[in-house]
Amino acid sequence: MSASTLNATHDPALRSWIASANVDGADFPIQNLPFTVFSAGTGSASQLRCGVGIGDQILDVGACKDLMTGDELALVAARASRASSLNDLMQLGQPAMSALRQRLSLLLQAGNDDRAALAAALVPQSQAALHLPVRIGGFTDFYASVHHATNVGRLMRPDNPLLPNYKYVPIGYNGRANSVRVSGEPVRRPLGQTKNAGDTSPTYGPSRRLDYEVELGLYIGMPSTRDEPVSVDAAWDHVFGFSLLNDWSARDIQSWEYQPLGPFLSKSFATTISPWVVTAEALAPFRVPAAARAPGDPAPLPHLYSRADRGQGGLQIALDASLRTQRMAQQGVPPLRLSRSNTASLYWTFGQMVAHHTSNGCALDPGDLLGSGTVSGEGEGSQGALLELTVGGSKPLRLESTGEQRSFLEDGDEVIFSGRCERPGFVPIGFGFCAAKILPAIAIPGEPHAG
Ligand code: MN
Repeated sequence: MSASTLNATHDPALRSWIASANVDGADFPIQNLPFTVFSAGTGSASQLRCGVGIGDQILDVGACKDLMTGDELALVAARASRASSLNDLMQLGQPAMSALRQRLSLLLQAGNDDRAALAAALVPQSQAALHLPVRIGGFTDFYASVHHATNVGRLMRPDNPLLPNYKYVPIGYNGRANSVRVSGEPVRRPLGQTKNAGDTSPTYGPSRRLDYEVELGLYIGMPSTRDEPVSVDAAWDHVFGFSLLNDWSARDIQSWEYQPLGPFLSKSFATTISPWVVTAEALAPFRVPAAARAPGDPAPLPHLYSRADRGQGGLQIALDASLRTQRMAQQGVPPLRLSRSNTASLYWTFGQMVAHHTSNGCALDPGDLLGSGTVSGEGEGSQGALLELTVGGSKPLRLESTGEQRSFLEDGDEVIFSGRCERPGFVPIGFGFCAAKILPAIAIPGEPHAG
């Protein structure tokens, strides 16, 4: 039972007895069942628990364990869900996750007579707080979109945008796990060293080129073993699921610090993830062929190649980035969509990223987070960062609803991501939201506050 195989839980005819799950356009129909960590109310109810999203409700998975009898794997998974993070559950691996999904699908589908027993385990999302769902041990960020790499490279090297290693190596760097936070928590404008062109020396102060990056985050479930590279074909056995991810980036700090070892403080101040984790199995209907390599591109080296991965290693997920400025919020106008891109266009598949990550003997642990890198497409309006949309800040965006302009983010701006999978013959599923607002920088230590 692999994560790419279709089964009864993907049946487009399935409906839930929870009416909000059956509404057209719902992110969480019964075919999705994404995981989160939530709390509700006060006292013992304020305890953190693992839940599954269904319509506008959350099902407390651990509270349903008595309904899992007869299925040992599902029972083990439900017991592991009585925890304040998904880590115990995610490390169980695909067979247990699949058994739990199958049982939850049966419990939540229309016609089930256990609903009275389940009602006590349901909490409306409007009455719950969502938390960082995973204790993240390591955070790696890749650079898997060739369109993003080309657009960014062109700003620096107009004649030679793509470096020669790009089509051989899934480029990545080790990020900072302890600054990953959940959607809704604000992000403070970072301080750092920047140096303007023409200046002889850098200065220390608030970033003036603060940007976002639209990414998909992958959570490792079943661990890999040190000194044992994971093959591309085995990679999905280690994938628990996916979230929306915003890799906030201070471009002015980045351009001064990145040579020769890559990004550091320009990225480590904050990363925002969505609270919902859509499982690898829920995404099975949206697996597509890996994006075609251009004629003349080198074949991947054997350890990064798999025929099966070329055939169905891609994921078709549309990612939208929207901006709500303070003025938009004050005037009550809706957020403005800045881009729509799709993970199906990534040059490197998630299977290749996992294989590459472990190819030197490095182990992956439950709760490790891998970012795809900015997901950009080729066409207009498909660039997943302001750096690309404004051509390095040289062509500011005009925000029609308020008449404002943006090259980079300003204090009070809110950046909102959403993600959606659609394919004829299947029920669409969504990822919820990944949103955060920019707070002004703190005063520079040792200097009087300007404001
Ligand atoms: Mn990134």
